[in-house]
Amino acid sequence: MYPVTRLFLPRSLGEALELLEKARPWPLAGGTDVFVKMRRNKLQDVSLMSLEKIPDMAGIRELPNGDIAIGAMATFTAIAESGLIQRRVPMLKTAALSMGGPQIQNMATIGGNVCNGATSADSAPSLLALNALLELQCAGGERLVPIREFYLGPGKVIRREEELMTRIILPAGGRDQWAGVYIKMSTRKAMDISTLGVAVVCETKSGGAIQEAAIALGTAGPVPIRCGEAETLLQGRIPEGDLFLKAGIAARQAANPRTSWRAGREFRQALIEGLVERALKQAYAMAGETG
Ligand SMILES: Cc1cc2nc3c(=O)[nH]c(=O)nc-3n(C[C@H](O)[C@H](O)[C@H](O)COP(=O)(O)OP(=O)(O)OC[C@H]3O[C@@H](n4cnc5c(N)ncnc54)[C@H](O)[C@@H]3O)c2cc1C
Repeated sequence: MYPVTRLFLPRSLGEALELLEKARPWPLAGGTDVFVKMRRNKLQDVSLMSLEKIPDMAGIRELPNGDIAIGAMATFTAIAESGLIQRRVPMLKTAALSMGGPQIQNMATIGGNVCNGATSADSAPSLLALNALLELQCAGGERLVPIREFYLGPGKVIRREEELMTRIILPAGGRDQWAGVYIKMSTRKAMDISTLGVAVVCETKSGGAIQEAAIALGTAGPVPIRCGEAETLLQGRIPEGDLFLKAGIAARQAANPRTSWRAGREFRQALIEGLVERALKQAYAMAGETG
């Protein structure tokens, strides 16, 4: 039924990287994108390499320096249920639970979500706002790529064919008072990809000024983006008047959403303004409570 020419099942990372080097099979994680592509005849007569038997590609752990390392094969259920994620980056739990439905969350991995290069990927805005680093390995070595450099265009990413994404690192960042929020707008509450995804991280100082803010958007252009000018607008400011709305307007100006059957460009632009403002208000209030 599926046009697979060969299925490789490596038992170690080394074996997988060697296979990629020699035979260039398609990495297969949860298959929730790969098999849909095959059914739609967008991917045919390919060799697949399942990553499921490689030990320890799914772990979620705190590193000695406080960074969080998420294995590329961690499913969205595992992310939502991780005590570490709930305690340190609950916005990722929100993102995980906004994905598809329980069956998809059980199968789909964060590595697959990032590697498929979709602008609507629910993990992307939060990972961008958290300055995630992506660990890419090939037989010849490894590199750490900031997620901001990873997306090249719709479905196009910087990963080379011979590379696997092995981990996602969330830098601890040395922040004291901070909070993050992810808001997904979609037509249905489940089993629907985002009309717009907004992730915001807000760090505050004692006295209430914003130390730093990060604003990231999904489905607001061909690739997930950060909104640098909106972030600069907030730096060092005590939120008064319509500051958060101004940041929402600046975020809209940074975005380039398209009209699709899901929503029109103008509607998405209005959503950007409103949801960025709402996410900032929530994150700012929550950051104050952590101090
Ligand atoms: C019914 C349904 C609902 C969905 N709803 C949502 C939703 O609400 N939000 C959302 O964001 N997505 C949604 N998706 C899309 C999909 O579930 C996600 O993108 C998912 O995270 C993909 O992960 P996967 O493990 O299934 O990847 P796979 O399908 O196995 O792989 C996806 C791509 O990534 C590559 N890849 C996977 N892992 C690696 C790795 N470690 N290193 C290198 N390359 C790798 C594969 O070769 C492939 O190109 C939905 C899909 C379906 C079928």
